[in-house]
Amino acid sequence: MSPFPQQLIDGYRTFRSQRLPTEQSRYRELSERGQSPEVMVIGCCDSRVSPEVIFDAGPGELFVVRNVANLVPVYAPDGGAHGVSAALEYAVNALRVKHVVVLGHALCGGIRAFIDNIEPLSPGDFIGRWMSMFIKPGEKVEQRDHETMADFTVRIEKAAVFRSLENLMTFPFVRTPVARGELSLHGAYFGVAEGSLFVLDSAAKQFRSVGESQRIGSSE
Ligand SMILES: [Zn+2]
Repeated sequence: MSPFPQQLIDGYRTFRSQRLPTEQSRYRELSERGQSPEVMVIGCCDSRVSPEVIFDAGPGELFVVRNVANLVPVYAPDGGAHGVSAALEYAVNALRVKHVVVLGHALCGGIRAFIDNIEPLSPGDFIGRWMSMFIKPGEKVEQRDHETMADFTVRIEKAAVFRSLENLMTFPFVRTPVARGELSLHGAYFGVAEGSLFVLDSAAKQFRSVGESQRIGSSE
């Protein structure tokens, strides 16, 4: 068996010597009082899109679930093992988070696999099955006339955020606190190359760039 990756040992040592001393009291407090994050983030597994890095979050601040293409399934109390639904149930009903953010991103491999309709990577075709929840029965995802492949890909990456937000509202334990104003749902999109962040203006159904001077949530 090969040894534990050295880069992780080195990274932990850096964490221990640099970050831990400044955060030790916070870790102690979190261990005694438990976590109480106000924000849940549903993001992609992509190694370039770490919510804690993008939002500069410390320990205890974000409750994160990541999966291929940041998808939320439709509410399905069918006895199956649903990882995202379990995390969502805990975040909303136990932690009482105030916000759920679906974080999409550019250059998403899951979306690309879906668009290109790639051959299954294993006999189980787990990616294919997972991505198929993105499509509603009878729905077609096609490149539009005069739409470049790049534009088409971005449109579908953003559509994945819309679909996940839509699916979130199929959960009764999400719908109720949203209706009461106790929980808010948000969409965001991260541009990997520029490190740019776009936040969904749900009224306009458009993603707006978050500039350095711009306040998130301010209406334009
Ligand atoms: Zn992705």
